[in-house]
Amino acid sequence: MDFLDLIGAKRDGGALTPDEIRWVIDSYAHDGAVTDYQMAALLMAVLIRGLDSDELAVWTEAMLNSGEVFDFSSIDAAKVDKHSTGGVGDKVSIPLAPMVAACGGAVPMISGRGLGHTGGTLDKLESIPGFRTGFDPPEFRSLLEEHGLVLAGQSETVVPADRKIYALRDVTGTVPSIPLISSSIMSKKLAEGLDALVLDVKVGSGAFMKELAGARELATTMVGIGKAHGTATTALITDMNQPLGKEVGNASEIVESIEVLKGGGPADLIEVTERLGSEMLVMGGLADDHPAAVEMLRNAIASGAAFEKMEEVVIAQGGNPAVLHDPSLLPKAVSHEVVAAERSGVVERCDAFDIGVAGVRLGAGRATMEDVIDPGVGMTVHVAIGDEVAAGDPLVTIHWNRAERLEASRQLVERALTVGDGPADAPPLIYEEVR
Ligand code: URA
Repeated sequence: MDFLDLIGAKRDGGALTPDEIRWVIDSYAHDGAVTDYQMAALLMAVLIRGLDSDELAVWTEAMLNSGEVFDFSSIDAAKVDKHSTGGVGDKVSIPLAPMVAACGGAVPMISGRGLGHTGGTLDKLESIPGFRTGFDPPEFRSLLEEHGLVLAGQSETVVPADRKIYALRDVTGTVPSIPLISSSIMSKKLAEGLDALVLDVKVGSGAFMKELAGARELATTMVGIGKAHGTATTALITDMNQPLGKEVGNASEIVESIEVLKGGGPADLIEVTERLGSEMLVMGGLADDHPAAVEMLRNAIASGAAFEKMEEVVIAQGGNPAVLHDPSLLPKAVSHEVVAAERSGVVERCDAFDIGVAGVRLGAGRATMEDVIDPGVGMTVHVAIGDEVAAGDPLVTIHWNRAERLEASRQLVERALTVGDGPADAPPLIYEEVR
């Protein structure tokens, strides 16, 4: 294949043939002829020109088949999972997975790292000292069989194409593309051998889809891919105009997730977690209807079963379980800076995108593929849209380690927030369901 012809064809609006797509994905995933810079050019052409539905089906299937595809049919429990299109402060997977596993689901969760301005479940989990996220397929299977839950990343053997393409997209401005997001998410999820999948499609300033129409198209595309593959799939479109919960970072999002597992945590995070969890339980046949499912999830928290499941999995994956009982053992930033309200009024904006980029500037995300995450840095967002504040009230606390990174981050945090005369209505948390 002549890769230049292929890039040119997509750049000029043409369609790639199934053989071309399979060759590109296979070659890039397995260190063949395709280089990072060539792939980056093709991804940009795809971002601009799109993929038609036939191309997308082949692209997703080629990513899925770039590695091992699990068959967990020998495990009796319903195999269920959730995936988010990415947000700021979106730590839902961390409490949700043990909650659902405690209710009897088997959750073989393969997650991603931070992407662009959004955080990644794997980066957050890896702030737990010792916690491993890379498993070969036999290990992955035995963890699932034994604990009903695995929290892992794409390995060399499972969807290696996504692992490489995802890292490249993160640093080449090629994230916000419906075909690239859909194929990335669905290839990982379909490799898990699931019975049911719920997708959390974020919409708003801090999401890759800024408008409801784009989020709806993304949700419909992914639900279509899931169903075509024979996996029960639904999507909820949820808000990402402001961060979810109060903590944005890596270790600090683990702390907030532990609070949820202990029966606390912020109301918005709990609501989204319960809604997604109830979809998983109902689709997986573990609950008859949504009210029954929510009750099961709440019982799993109240009885301590969800917390114990998390503890079991942290131990099984090599992490230090003491952090669950004493979160102060997690990495922490050494310094803090408070951004306070300059006037009294109503919070009219708390822009999730700017807050997310502020986190990347601090070191909570990556600007290049080689960057190493600083797990202790981040922000505590004390306010939400619609809150009344008095002059001097803290709006955001920045937790920082490197002074040279603070200034850029503080400017973004200041830009993210508007305190005005109001009134300002909080955006809805959940917009729509796509089935
Ligand atoms: N999450 C993923 O796994 N992939 C994307 O492309 C975006 C969010």
